[in-house]
Amino acid sequence: MDFVEKFRESLKIPTWWPPETQGSAAVEAAEATLLRFQKFLAENFPAFHQAAEHWMLSPYSMVYHWPGIGGTGSEANAVLLLAHYDVVPAETEKWSVDPFGAEMKDGFIYSRGSLDMKSTLISIMEAAEILCAEGRKPKRDIWFAFGGDEERTGILGAMETVKWFENRGQKFDWILDEGTPIAENQIKGIDSPLALISIEEKGYVSLSLTVAQEPGHASRPPRVQAAAILGRALCRIAKKPFPFRLSPTVEMFFKQVSPLMPGVQGFVMRHARAFGPLFFKVAATTPMTASMLRTTAAMTQLAGSAADNVMPSEVRAIINIRLLWPWTVEKASAFIKKAVNDKRVRISVHGLGTNPVPPSRDYRNRGWSEFQAALDKSWPGVPLLPFIMVATTDSRHYQKLSDCIFRFSPHKLDPKELSGIHGHDERISAENLHAGMTFYTELLRSL
Ligand SMILES: [Zn+2]
Repeated sequence: MDFVEKFRESLKIPTWWPPETQGSAAVEAAEATLLRFQKFLAENFPAFHQAAEHWMLSPYSMVYHWPGIGGTGSEANAVLLLAHYDVVPAETEKWSVDPFGAEMKDGFIYSRGSLDMKSTLISIMEAAEILCAEGRKPKRDIWFAFGGDEERTGILGAMETVKWFENRGQKFDWILDEGTPIAENQIKGIDSPLALISIEEKGYVSLSLTVAQEPGHASRPPRVQAAAILGRALCRIAKKPFPFRLSPTVEMFFKQVSPLMPGVQGFVMRHARAFGPLFFKVAATTPMTASMLRTTAAMTQLAGSAADNVMPSEVRAIINIRLLWPWTVEKASAFIKKAVNDKRVRISVHGLGTNPVPPSRDYRNRGWSEFQAALDKSWPGVPLLPFIMVATTDSRHYQKLSDCIFRFSPHKLDPKELSGIHGHDERISAENLHAGMTFYTELLRSL
């Protein structure tokens, strides 16, 4: 099977997660699908499977070790590439094609997971397969860890894999995970593509705001209603956003990108710190740039009673917060409580919260030049820039194993393609697929 065919076959394995709880028949079927995907890799990349040690730790975790020829020193020098093989579900009726059909149309391959992120995983495997078939051995130890539940926090996949590495005492010089892409037309004023490699990652926490009241018949509502109290709390949160902060990563990004920006805008970006509040006014004009400059609070869910004529015993709102370092789950919760300033509103952490991952240390000397060289071969002329990941990746669980983590996807994406990730009609162009594969081949060849 050629590379594109292998990729399409991998997309047809529907590795998405049902809403049912662990242990149910639906989840057992989903686990069987994850195992089918693992088997697919073993069968389709034989040279790599021969050359590398591998462990299928569970349906949610697989690890490969491609030993370096450098001897004992190469162990300390080890690097790790991460990927995940689960995908989010697809609302079939909103797609113009079968979301798991891997249809090819007008130079694109359409499928759930085509961007997020079987394109990367299969490209990494194909790159390793090509090099192993050539008989190449890397200079340093290269590890690969793939997770099967990244889209559901990584508790069973990434977190267990990290424990497995810890038990072996394994650390990494650097780690590369999925992440920010080669952005095209995504930053206002810049139309040439930029390779954005994230060296820090925002944290994640959801807060639940609840207000209780006596349930009863909607014909006799109380004078002060729970929904009104909750509504006032939400207005207060909206009126008091988290403060702007220019992190060193973002400052460096704007400085490097400013020559590409027109006139005044470029000048302000170049001298961001000197402009103070005016800089934030100019820079935070789109949701994307604003998200790089502050901790954000998104109001994502609201719930009341189940019927239109029933008073709810409780109303609830969920606020999803993305923490800009050095904000923490604890500090952000306190900030929201202070903004709401109403004892009738109960505020608690909902689900699993994670603090931000601080900027990678010494990243210019660890991996950067290899990434630059691989980029020159796959996307000639595109500049490589340090960036901040505003979404979360599995790599956040790996902080104990390395203080230098990169998040990058070597695919050139415009806003329309970007919207396909977790949306409808997710697709990848053949150009992207091939260039991405070249990136990983050149990267692995240099290690
Ligand atoms: Zn992903």
